[in-house]
Order: sequence, then structure tokens, then C-alpha cells
Amino acid sequence: MSNDERTFVMVKPDGVQRGLIGEIISRFEHRGLKLVGAKAIQLDRELAEQHYAEHEDKPFFDDLVEFITSAPVFAMVWEGKDATHQVRRMVGETDPAESPPGTIRGDYGLDLGRNLIHASDHEDPGSNEREIELFFDEDELLDYEQVTAEWQYE
Ligand code: GDP
Ligand code: MG
Repeated sequence: MSNDERTFVMVKPDGVQRGLIGEIISRFEHRGLKLVGAKAIQLDRELAEQHYAEHEDKPFFDDLVEFITSAPVFAMVWEGKDATHQVRRMVGETDPAESPPGTIRGDYGLDLGRNLIHASDHEDPGSNEREIELFFDEDELLDYEQVTAEWQYE
């Protein structure tokens, strides 16, 4: 398993409005993941519909697009060993009510439609790279060594 898997993470409008960007970044930093890209943006309809294309036939699709475009989000790329799966474990279940304490959604959310954060799906291989490409240009992503790497990886 390589130590340089990249995954896409986005603090949704509710997380930004509630002032949880820093808290969420801290969790990934403390876990030892490496931040390789980040930006605050507001999604337009086209980007939102592309991002959530897999859900276009679901009854909640219009509300989801409406919500995700309603206010700024904070998009990030994190890198590390098994990053996509490990980030999803830290995020919790889709419904905060089903997410255990200790997860981001389980600690900060109560409602399915306000679950604070998006993260690429490890059960959908390639979704991480696809989402990174959708949100970031290559020159917005950093290539650097973490000085702590030898203390984090055997
Ligand atoms: P995720 O990968 O855990 O974010 O969940 P999904 O990919 O299944 O769904 C994408 C997003 O759509 C979720 O994060 C929720 O914001 C929203 N969503 C999913 N299922 C439902 C639902 O049944 N009702 C509503 N209102 N929103 C949903
Ligand atoms: Mg998903």
C-alpha cells in the first residue's frame, strides 16, 4: 500500500458557516495526513451537478445541489497511506445520527441533510482522483516532503 494516496475532502456550507473548518483540518493533520491542496470556493450549479452526478436520479438531488451551492465550501486534498478509506472512517456514516462519537459527523452533526463534510468514497475506486481533478488544477496541488514522514511510516 503506497503512502501517497490522495483523497478529496470538502467542508460543506453548514460546516463553513458553523466555523468548523479549522477543527476538521486539525483532525486530518493530527492523524498524520499531508495537506496538498486547499481553497475556499462557492460551487456553481454545473460543478455541483457534476460532483453529485451519481445521485441525479435520487429524490434528494435538487435539494442537495441547492444546498451545496448556497454558500462557500472549503475544498481540500489530503495525502497518506490508505487516505481515502481512512478519511471516510474519520468522517463517519452518511447520516450523522448513525455516526459514532469520535467521527466528524458523529461529533458535530444531527441531520442527514446537514452532514458537514464530503469525502471521496473508497468503495467507488477512482472517485478520489476524479473528484480531485474536478475541483483542482494540477498547479494548485503541492509536491513536498513532510519532515515527520519517517516518524509516521515504518
Ligand atoms: P456520502 O458519500 O456519505 O456523503 O453520502 P452519499 O454519497 O450517499 O450522498 C451524498 C450526499 O447526499 C450526502 O452526504 C447527503 O448530504 C445527501 N444525502 C444522501 N442521502 C440522502 C437522503 O436520503 N436524504 C437527503 N435529504 N440527503 C441525502
Ligand atoms: Mg458519496
